[in-house]
Amino acid sequence: MTLKPITPKSRVRVRRLAKRAVYDEEAILAILDEALICHVGFVDDEQPYVIPIIHGRIGTTLYFHGSQSNRMLGALSDGIEMCATATIIDGLVLARSAFHHSMNYRSVVILGRATAVLDPDEKTRALEATMERLKPGRWADARPPTDKELEQTLMVSLPIEEASAKVRSGPPADDEEDYDLPIWAGELPLSLTPSNGLVPDPRLIAGVDVPGYLQ
Ligand SMILES: Cc1cc2nc3c(=O)[nH]c(=O)nc-3n(C[C@H](O)[C@H](O)[C@H](O)COP(=O)(O)OP(=O)(O)OC[C@H]3O[C@@H](n4cnc5c(N)ncnc54)[C@H](O)[C@@H]3O)c2cc1C
Repeated sequence: MTLKPITPKSRVRVRRLAKRAVYDEEAILAILDEALICHVGFVDDEQPYVIPIIHGRIGTTLYFHGSQSNRMLGALSDGIEMCATATIIDGLVLARSAFHHSMNYRSVVILGRATAVLDPDEKTRALEATMERLKPGRWADARPPTDKELEQTLMVSLPIEEASAKVRSGPPADDEEDYDLPIWAGELPLSLTPSNGLVPDPRLIAGVDVPGYLQ
């Protein structure tokens, strides 16, 4: 367990609809693994930014990577305060009243300071974790990064220590007097699934079969 305990003063204590708060490390890590991307918030030259970026996880460390000229990663490398948010949408919640419409979701917020990753071995492991989280089996298939490519990669790591999850599931929560209204109410589940099969690269050489992990 590396999560800091939640106290009344914790910055990540969920205050609004606190019943939806989840502080369990396993649940937080599972949401991070399933979410495709994070949105990273930081302040640069007094201007707040929130930028989408792919993440990888090893244990209780989150990794972000990009080019050496990446402005956000450069700013994060300096150890400034940052926030990483991951969100999964599980469905639309259609209530009888407009007011109580909602979404079912699982989201995580992590606060902290990142550190630049300089060790090429750690960089490689983090790149593998990032790729394998998104498409298991791909790392073994892909050409490994060269030393030069690793040098060109700017990477930061963020400890998952100060973190919270918030989860909504289930039917709408209408006002009691609205349950007799003749209005359809319920959930429209949503999920991210592959669509329309694979599209081979037009430059794919002849005779390369689709690997098993993509079928
Ligand atoms: C799904 C997804 C995954 C991504 N994964 C990665 C990743 O793993 N690594 C990586 O380096 N980058 C990734 N990107 C791109 C990333 O969002 C940034 O564009 C990139 O990291 C450059 O960051 P920067 O701070 O150098 O941007 P700059 O070019 O310095 O930003 C300048 C301005 O450009 C605009 N801008 C920058 N990025 C975006 C954006 N994504 N959408 C709209 N406007 C933008 C903003 O107004 C910003 O203030 C991803 C984007 C998406 C949508």
